[in-house]
Amino acid sequence: MNQPVAKTLHFKPHERNIFFHLLTACNLSCKHCYINPAQHGTATVSRETMEQWLTLFYDPHKESNVIFLGGEPTLHPDLVHGIRYARSLGYKTITVDSNGYLHHDLLNRLKPDEAVLSFSLDGPNPEVNDALRGAGVFATCTANLQKAIGLGFEVSVIYTVSQLNIEHLAAMPELLERLGCKRFFIQVIGLRGKSASEQETNLQVSPEEWLAVIPGVAKDAAHRGIHVIYPKVFLEPGEEFLCAGNVAENYFIFPNGRVYLCPLCEDFPLHTFRIEDNCLVENSGITEKNLFSLNIPEGCVMNKLLQPGNLEYKPDGSPRHRISCCLLKQEIRPEPPRKQK
Ligand code: SF4
Ligand code: SF4
Repeated sequence: MNQPVAKTLHFKPHERNIFFHLLTACNLSCKHCYINPAQHGTATVSRETMEQWLTLFYDPHKESNVIFLGGEPTLHPDLVHGIRYARSLGYKTITVDSNGYLHHDLLNRLKPDEAVLSFSLDGPNPEVNDALRGAGVFATCTANLQKAIGLGFEVSVIYTVSQLNIEHLAAMPELLERLGCKRFFIQVIGLRGKSASEQETNLQVSPEEWLAVIPGVAKDAAHRGIHVIYPKVFLEPGEEFLCAGNVAENYFIFPNGRVYLCPLCEDFPLHTFRIEDNCLVENSGITEKNLFSLNIPEGCVMNKLLQPGNLEYKPDGSPRHRISCCLLKQEIRPEPPRKQK
């Protein structure tokens, strides 16, 4: 049998990714929700602002991609308009990250080639998923996922791994195969939003647990014909550390006008830019940019500040692993079947 091999997806300097939070409201209340109204408010961007900000961040000289997020982005009544506006500007890929409810009749108002739909599922069955995301969510999300596949949409599933569901991850490839979903994103729970609160810190997964489970599940999914992307987390010995804040173009935009370059900074007022009168203005004082320039043996500075429990040291005081940028991903593509001779 062919062996699918994981490879690192290096940062692409010719690419610009816009993570556009249209609102912070959501119809669900997940245990590990990362939304932080104290930092990002409760506003919803207007249709006009959506157009202005999509224009502001579109770079015709780069491959520009936009991911619409929330809260729940499908709660925004002008999402379809925003998707079409982004397409008319020239954005290469347009993705909607949804909890699966697909409000405002999205599937019937959108054509399958207009956007990729990403569905969040945190368990392979209602018992695991709904304990984290709410009663009835598994049934609604999987029904809409199948409907979207049936209509010809390109879809993916995102699974956020925590202590509460890591042991169930292994059952996901079989579920995705059954549902007909060909793309799988595995995420690691971050110390953000609700999961950053003290009582939730036990949700974190240790390096040993991550390495023991995730690469094996990814391989199983690839064997089943599924394209898998998951965070690198630990750099191999000798592998170069790069901070996306220095070498890539990712903008995390919030409805209150804050613009971050690093998602781990989103719970703090460390944003590099703000949008003012429809212009991108760089903030003075201490921002995330000051952190990007620090060169530490542990790798990612924000990881050391937020998740020092991830770090282990050798007797000589040097770190056992360097932690990669949280935006550095690994992928495993399914091998095409070998031609019969
Ligand atoms: S679906 Fe997303 S935004 Fe909504 S509660 Fe869950 S994690 Fe938060
Ligand atoms: S996660 Fe770490 S390495 Fe990546 S952008 Fe943020 S500070 Fe830089």
